[in-house]
Amino acid sequence: MYLIRVMSAIICSLFIITSACAENRARAVYEKPGSAIEAVIKKELKTSDSIESVVTLINENFHLSEPLDIVFGGEEGPLYDSEENKILIPYSFVQEVKQRFIAANYSETGVSATDATLDALMHTLFHELAHALVFMYELPVVGKEEDAADGLATVLLIDLFEDGQEISISAADLFDLESEDIEEFAEGDFWDEHSLDIQRYYSTLCYVYGSGPNKYAYLSKQADFSQERAELCIEEYENRSKSWILLLKPYFKNYEVSQTSRCN
Ligand SMILES: [Zn+2]
Repeated sequence: MYLIRVMSAIICSLFIITSACAENRARAVYEKPGSAIEAVIKKELKTSDSIESVVTLINENFHLSEPLDIVFGGEEGPLYDSEENKILIPYSFVQEVKQRFIAANYSETGVSATDATLDALMHTLFHELAHALVFMYELPVVGKEEDAADGLATVLLIDLFEDGQEISISAADLFDLESEDIEEFAEGDFWDEHSLDIQRYYSTLCYVYGSGPNKYAYLSKQADFSQERAELCIEEYENRSKSWILLLKPYFKNYEVSQTSRCN
């Protein structure tokens, strides 16, 4: 099975312009909800533009070596299942995220808990897409893949969506809220494949600030970045963006990213 996938990826990269690869598409699949609460979540996901816009942007921008299903429902996830080439997102995860935003009175920021949940979910979907692309095309990853996936998620949101920076801020805030779960660090927090939630929060804010240092100067202040760190964020965002574009170039359709410096 693995060999077939590898061969498929190689053939696809050889004939990337041909329609054979272009036919592989991503799609959202909604499984039967297991409860009334999950039914509400399913309805919110289906009626929002967020999920469809992610699916559309994946199809518009990437050649996929095989079809990619984004499956909502089930117990497992969020994760990318490389055996099935599926991204799995349980309704219960979405509900949990929404509850966090509600409990934190997130709407006081001007973004409703439902919208913040959809924002964070978009980040999660692009994060899982990163794992899918790494697997499908055997992309090199030097460093923690989880950090790399967070980087691609933020880069794609910022580059592909008009309000991508705002979407990313909601995603960062979710990491901040999740970090509050920890009363005391355990060994497992340090050997986990993911960076600490609080680090993911600062990294995401750093990218957003780095992508628009003038407009998002307030984020640097909010995060209390030193001047040196703030300057590095600008460099880091540019490097992450360029690195991912370089890696993914053979698999892009018409993806065009402004290479000019972003100082909005
Ligand atoms: Zn991951």
